[in-house]
Amino acid sequence: MTVSTFKHKVLRAIYRYFMFFLIVAFLVTCTTSLFVSVLSESLDVELTGDNLQTAAKLTFLNVLALSILFTAMDAIRRKLTTERATKHITSAAQQIVQGNFDVRISPVSSFSADDNYNEIIDCFNTMASELSSVETLRTDFIANVSHEMKTPLSVIRNYGKLLQKPALPEESRVEYARAITDASLRLSDMMTNILKLTRLENQQIYPKTETYDLGEQLCECLLQYETVWEARDIEIDTDIEENVQICADAELLSLVWSNLFSNAFKFTENGGKVTLSLSSDEHCAIVKVSDTGCGMSAEMGAHIFEKFYQGDTSRATQGNGLGLALVKRVIDIMQGDICVESVVGEGSTFTVKIRRTQDES
Ligand code: ADP
Repeated sequence: MTVSTFKHKVLRAIYRYFMFFLIVAFLVTCTTSLFVSVLSESLDVELTGDNLQTAAKLTFLNVLALSILFTAMDAIRRKLTTERATKHITSAAQQIVQGNFDVRISPVSSFSADDNYNEIIDCFNTMASELSSVETLRTDFIANVSHEMKTPLSVIRNYGKLLQKPALPEESRVEYARAITDASLRLSDMMTNILKLTRLENQQIYPKTETYDLGEQLCECLLQYETVWEARDIEIDTDIEENVQICADAELLSLVWSNLFSNAFKFTENGGKVTLSLSSDEHCAIVKVSDTGCGMSAEMGAHIFEKFYQGDTSRATQGNGLGLALVKRVIDIMQGDICVESVVGEGSTFTVKIRRTQDES
């Protein structure tokens, strides 16, 4: 204990004693004088100055003793009910400050302590477990980013070294330069996705709602892949209900559609088929993106919305496992729903449900 905390404790004890002294002095003086005056009247006894002086001295000593007794009893009560619980909470909070998020406080007995302490302890434990899971997410995220960056960076380094060789044939030079460009594009795509995800997670982007035709937006997004489906002979089938107006953030939603389309094309073999359908009811618009691609197992399906998860490692170079995490985040912000049905070797169908009007929040 430092000198200043000791001084504080002494001053607090004196203050408490003084408060008890005032209360006891007031009560004892009032009751004694009332008692004495009633007694002297009823017995018709005249009180002398000496009598009064002795009574005053005795009353004063009485007040002093009672105040000491009350202060001591109050100190013991505090020790048992308040100080023990606050000591636990303070030392746990100090551990959190030092970065130990595993600390938890066990509840205090509600017989000895105020029940409010258990409420504080409950909140504290919830806060500690939230902090601990945020910390795990953060460290996992950093580990994943560093891991994902390593491959393109080593491609750039290796091909950069090869480019330095003198008298390199023109063909190899172009090939190495292309590999470097592809790797740097992958890096920049990953960074863009990480930035988008971070901004969405920190809720710095709030939906800027506008009313628009969802069918038109879906067709515009799908058309961006025209060169892909033509080059790979992929059949396109669309079933789009007309005039489905929704009030939503168009920019955010186009991120969802382009990720779903790009996956559908990426995981579908040449000559396959991608189907887009849009239907609606009074409250929701329902979009389905199906493909006849490789599909995924139930185990894979359970993880696809996690950051950096890539089920099909043979196509790992074509993505970074952030696309569906972004999609899920956007759908969550819009209070919508996304699910996937898939059969390995037959294809997958992603179904997105969006409320036609968004809550103002
Ligand atoms: P990426 O496509 O960059 O790998 P995503 O987050 O978009 O990352 O997808 C995560 C994983 O989900 C993919 O690696 C793949 O295994 C699986 N996946 C997504 N869409 C499909 C699909 N249409 N067909 C089969 N698997 C898919």
